[in-house]
Amino acid sequence: MKFPALFFPALAVLSLTLAVPAQQANDPLHAWVQAKDPAALEAWANQRIAAEKADIDRLRAVTGPRTVQNTLRPFDDAQNELAIAGNNANLFFMLAGTAPMRDMGQKQSSAISAVQTELSLDQRVYRALAAIPLPDHDPATRHYLERTLLEYRLSGVDKDDATRAKIKDLQDKISDLSLAFERNIADGTLKITATRAELDGLPGDYIARHKPNPDGTYTLTTDEPDVRPVLNFASSASLRLRMYQAYDGRAWPANELVLRDLLIARQQLASLLGYAHYADLATADQMIGSAPNVEKLIGQLDAVSRAPARREYEEVLAFAQEKQPSLESISIADASYWMEQYRRSRFSFDAQSVRPYFPYGEVQNGILATAARFFRVSFKPVKDAVVWDPSVDTFDVYDAAPGSKGKLLGRIYLDMHPREGKDKWFSSEPVLPGIGGRQLPEGMLVCNFSGGVAGDPGLMEYNEVVTFFHEFGHLMHHILGSQGQWSGQGGFNVEGDFVESPSQMLEEIFHSTAVLQSFAGHYQTGEPIPAGLVARMNAADAYGRARWLQRQLIFTSFSFQVHDQPPENIDFDRIYFDDVKRFSTFAPVPGDHFAASFTHITGYSSNYYTYVLDKVIAIDFFSQFDKNNLLDGPTALRYRRAVIEPGASKPAAQLVKDFLGRPQQIDALRRWMNEEFATQTGAPPASGTQNRP
Ligand SMILES: [Zn+2]
Repeated sequence: MKFPALFFPALAVLSLTLAVPAQQANDPLHAWVQAKDPAALEAWANQRIAAEKADIDRLRAVTGPRTVQNTLRPFDDAQNELAIAGNNANLFFMLAGTAPMRDMGQKQSSAISAVQTELSLDQRVYRALAAIPLPDHDPATRHYLERTLLEYRLSGVDKDDATRAKIKDLQDKISDLSLAFERNIADGTLKITATRAELDGLPGDYIARHKPNPDGTYTLTTDEPDVRPVLNFASSASLRLRMYQAYDGRAWPANELVLRDLLIARQQLASLLGYAHYADLATADQMIGSAPNVEKLIGQLDAVSRAPARREYEEVLAFAQEKQPSLESISIADASYWMEQYRRSRFSFDAQSVRPYFPYGEVQNGILATAARFFRVSFKPVKDAVVWDPSVDTFDVYDAAPGSKGKLLGRIYLDMHPREGKDKWFSSEPVLPGIGGRQLPEGMLVCNFSGGVAGDPGLMEYNEVVTFFHEFGHLMHHILGSQGQWSGQGGFNVEGDFVESPSQMLEEIFHSTAVLQSFAGHYQTGEPIPAGLVARMNAADAYGRARWLQRQLIFTSFSFQVHDQPPENIDFDRIYFDDVKRFSTFAPVPGDHFAASFTHITGYSSNYYTYVLDKVIAIDFFSQFDKNNLLDGPTALRYRRAVIEPGASKPAAQLVKDFLGRPQQIDALRRWMNEEFATQTGAPPASGTQNRP
């Protein structure tokens, strides 16, 4: 099915006052336009760093009283240069076609982050910023200044020279150790051997992809595409256990040492900065406010999920015991398998059955069309854009909200299919920050969906479609939220523990039959996805939410605990084992070295709670919408105005209050966890009644 109304015809191009910068040979914003070899990329990045230094010199040269204009403006300009340079370097690191270019991207990334650290410890800059009188008439600028000064203090700028030197060393050490931890995981692929009988239950294309060894056995690896199907579908419990242990243990024991050193360095840093533990430091500038609040959140979420998780477990165990009467309990290694079997049986739903309705091309059109309606924007393809790979689709984003006159808002790039050497994950990345009236924001999606080659329709799983929309939500937050006056106040600059809320909210929209039917058509016949199939899919998808939350609490608690005590003698396996016992009704397994492959521990440190906090907010947000008119009703525009457009110009807690009229509450999540979708008629229940009382 095609979409007639994806692009608003005859956009009011006349009213544009700002054009997307022309991509020319000497382009200070888009490195890929001119940097055709590593030396050129290095030269380009050095120009940006030189521009940053010039901005800082301008700031230092001021002699009279400090003002927003003579001090904060050049500071923001400097931040802007570093952001442009860092984003472009990151783009090469993730996406360049050759290894030498990716290596140079990585080298420039770390060079730019070193300049950033240097700036964050520059006392003269800090004192200049602190001398600006707080502008009371301009709350966004006031918030920017206050937040910038807070970040300066948290980085230790007001410490003496010797302490600052130590801080710098510790920061470097932390970033080296983080990199080493991630490398050990990326390089730590393990192999396990399986008999042909042990592959029973796995999809046919999975088995066909693996050629038997001469002795008839099969070699599987701990790489993602090999792991998930085994845990979800393999009927051999022994294979599932071996795979589970190998996957969690793929960087063990090396990473236990690295992790301990990392935690020690973080603890030393926290002590230098006057905090008891690293978790206190890491939460000081977040929405949650303090480490004790993390513990409180864990307790609240445990309380609401415990009973429903127990109920789910008992239902699944009873089902499993019908198949295997000798089974006494289910372990976490077997949880996914039995949940999947139970879902299939109870909801007559097989995840493979929806794939023909989600061919990649239609999904991309559908996501753009859905986002256009929900966010009140339009997308216009840019056919002649210079891009880093010919497969990249480029769109300009125009405002379509009432009274907006079709203003140009920015540009997005979609790099959606795997290729040799490309980053293997799914993410949304800034390319350019926005500065109102001066620089339009640009962003990109980096994904690895199937499709994109001639003859392959790229049939997607439902979860992949949801992932696509989730990442697209980050992109829209960046574009719509980066129209303000400061480069450092865009959509990606909100507090880190709020950043997932808007995207998690969008995921809920894709339970709507009407929304899915607006684009999901059979790739051969064009028949819209049947309502009954959507209903069964929703019912199956909604089952196990309490278990999902309890699993997140295991990770949340682990990430918090190891940063909330002296790290020297932590027994990682013990803490994880105890967390599994505390939060999960599924039993822990022996020999599980989870900590050694917990990738989030580098980027999130103690703050894995972000996911569960943002889920609470996302579901509360979603509960405000009319389920029968999700995209076109008035709430969507109100949401855009209150939550998305302000970017980081207000504290996140304020954004939440501005939309909800109160702080977030846990009640909506409680209802969500117990939600059951009607499966009989396929029609969604009337608004407001689909949650069990
Ligand atoms: Zn996300």
